Amino acid sequence: MDIEKNILAYLENIKKSNINAFISCDEDYVMAQVSAVKKGIEEKRFTSKIVGMPIAIKDNICTKGLKTTCASKMLKDYVPSYSATVIERLIKAGAIIIGKTNMDEFAMGSTTENSIFGATKNPHNNEYVSGGSSGGSCAAVAANLAVAALGSDTGGSIRQPAGYCGVVGIKPTYGTVSRYGLIAYASSLEQVGPIATNVTDCVNVLEVISGRDKKDSTTVNRSNLAFSKALTLGIKGFKIGVPRQYIEDADEEVKNAILETAKNFEKLGAVVEYFDLHATDYAVAAYYIIACAEASSNLSRFDGVRYGYRTDKYDSLDEMYKKTRSEGFLDETKRRILLGTFVLSEGYYDAYYMKAMKAKAVIKEEFDRVFKQYDLILAPTSPIKASKIGELIKDSVKMYLSDVCTVATNLAGLPAIAMPCAKDSNNVPIGMQLIADRFNEHKMIQAAYTFEKERAIYE
Ligand code: GLN
Repeated sequence: MDIEKNILAYLENIKKSNINAFISCDEDYVMAQVSAVKKGIEEKRFTSKIVGMPIAIKDNICTKGLKTTCASKMLKDYVPSYSATVIERLIKAGAIIIGKTNMDEFAMGSTTENSIFGATKNPHNNEYVSGGSSGGSCAAVAANLAVAALGSDTGGSIRQPAGYCGVVGIKPTYGTVSRYGLIAYASSLEQVGPIATNVTDCVNVLEVISGRDKKDSTTVNRSNLAFSKALTLGIKGFKIGVPRQYIEDADEEVKNAILETAKNFEKLGAVVEYFDLHATDYAVAAYYIIACAEASSNLSRFDGVRYGYRTDKYDSLDEMYKKTRSEGFLDETKRRILLGTFVLSEGYYDAYYMKAMKAKAVIKEEFDRVFKQYDLILAPTSPIKASKIGELIKDSVKMYLSDVCTVATNLAGLPAIAMPCAKDSNNVPIGMQLIADRFNEHKMIQAAYTFEKERAIYE
């Protein structure tokens, strides 16, 4: 393969594309990497399976010398002086960072509409959203603007857009991938993860970015990081559980797609059962309280002094802070900072934040019980079909509620893989996810690969 020609073709695709998947793409930066990779190949320095692979990066992951905006006015011109650990690992493995992708501001949202750069259009039907918040990364892969991408998943932001864009996305077990250099939204919930058109590429990228990092003390020293070995192991004897609550109230087309997928897993040799996941009742509420509480603290650093944007005119320090933050953040982000500050304030802390933390513990315990019974959980990536651009952004609560199938996974620190399982009546993909117990990625990879290989038979 001629890496240079290949990368130039991708750059051309990006230039021609009209789906607004990228925030920036610096050709000089890309071509400098191509030269470095060619040299590395000559010197036989690379051993990974992703040498020369063009990878798009969500714009909340720091890239040294390359703008990292979080799709926010606050960081519009921010150029990090260091790279995230995941970026360093990709570069060391010989991958090529092809550009930075669109997202909801600070990863807050489910449609990529909450971006100062505007929504990313769904590559399958441009009138619809690509999902969010990693919509740019998923759409870029789906539209052949990159072979793979990185996203971040705090409450579903890799899986839900992967579903809507018809690509594969993995949210790893909490502690598997370093968050060093990921601009924090809700630190206790989020993980960086890979996105690709197929399970194999996705797993190959995951192998490169995973593993203990001394710059992130929450990373775990795992022994079983050779995920690609699981690909071909099959699923004979697997027990898969489908939570009734995740399909009962789902859109009819989503429900049918999951029922059909469950049948296909049975044909592939798994036992499928339906069960009650009571955690569903309070997962969204607990998630939004915890995520907003952490966001209010994490985003306090954007004050016009230490980072990014500062307002033009002010008469006092206090006014400078107020105007900077009022002008620098979009409404949704401000709403969450306010909510988070409220639930952490004296007199309300016990009633909201502590209660949410208790709910989180209960959710984790319930999953622990469920995984004594099942190898995997099969669920939709979203209970609703992809919305038309401009629709869901009008109703924040409706948008929050649409995260019901993904947020509990993050509260419990579980891994999950998302991939398409059908198309809706608007020609937009419908996603399914397989959730595994902590540190059991191999099981979901086995099942996803088997499903991907056999899917053609059922379509
Ligand atoms: N939609 C969820 C939220 O807005 C999840 C976002 C994410 O995973 N980054 O918080």
